[in-house]
Amino acid sequence: MISRKNLYFFYKQTPDMQEIVTPLEDLAEENGFHLVHTIDEANIIVSVGGDNAFLQATRKTGFRDDCLYIGVNTDQLGFYTDFTISDQKRMIQAMKNDEVEVRRYPVLEVTIDNEKPIFCLNECSIRSNVIKTFVIDVVIDEFPFETFRGDGMIVSTPTGSTAYNKSVRGAVIDPTLPSMQVSELASLNNNQYRTLGTSFVLGPDRKLLLNVVQDGNDHPIIGADNEALSIRHAKQISIKLADRHIKVLKLKSNSFWQKVQRNFL
Ligand code: NAD
Repeated sequence: MISRKNLYFFYKQTPDMQEIVTPLEDLAEENGFHLVHTIDEANIIVSVGGDNAFLQATRKTGFRDDCLYIGVNTDQLGFYTDFTISDQKRMIQAMKNDEVEVRRYPVLEVTIDNEKPIFCLNECSIRSNVIKTFVIDVVIDEFPFETFRGDGMIVSTPTGSTAYNKSVRGAVIDPTLPSMQVSELASLNNNQYRTLGTSFVLGPDRKLLLNVVQDGNDHPIIGADNEALSIRHAKQISIKLADRHIKVLKLKSNSFWQKVQRNFL
């Protein structure tokens, strides 16, 4: 059922991983796929590893919206990996028998000051890099909503809602709802500083501005999924849902809520 044929394998370049990937490459060729060695030629990108590898695959390949991403886990099923290496034949069978579907996952577009936008599949996190709290003015659209003082904030996508966001008691969001969720990291709430104190979810057309108050502690660590950005000084972080999505191949029989149940209940 998949008409795209140019397949690029993304994995950690180690002898152990090569040993795992080679049979997968052979299987793909036997089934009519054409292996390519540059990302530009690819229209299917297969990440081999865990969720970590999948997050890296999307980042290192530039969040291509003209490609199909497939996550193959070397261990157990993950949140972005619907297939496992131990079940390769089943994977090909599923593709041929229409047991798979393509899901479009929302991603965040993050612009820091006037830098080039970056994209996040799980979340963008902003944290103080010193023991002292830091202050962020939170603006929704043009509206000054609250002033945050604490360790930091997490802005997550629906698929990222089960990751870092969930660890700080954010809600799990169905990925069919295009939205972004804002969660606090240890906000200070007293008679002087007040924040909402709960996570909140913004709709697809909202624009969030996080203005880092320049009080000497304005060198936050900014994380994009599993990477820390090298930007050392940030004044303004603008976050919205990107116009682009990433397309992910998944098993019809492995819904988001099945993943949530399997992993958390
Ligand atoms: P990692 O090795 O630190 O693993 C974190 C765990 O999160 C792994 O078990 C991974 O499979 C899982 N994970 C990743 N994306 C997920 C998702 N969308 N839903 C549910 N679980 C998910 O790092 P990694 O594997 O590279 O993952 C990076 C992610 O780790 C970050 O994007 C962030 O969401 C998360 N993280 C969580 C915490 C925390 O919970 N306190 C702290 C830092 C980062």
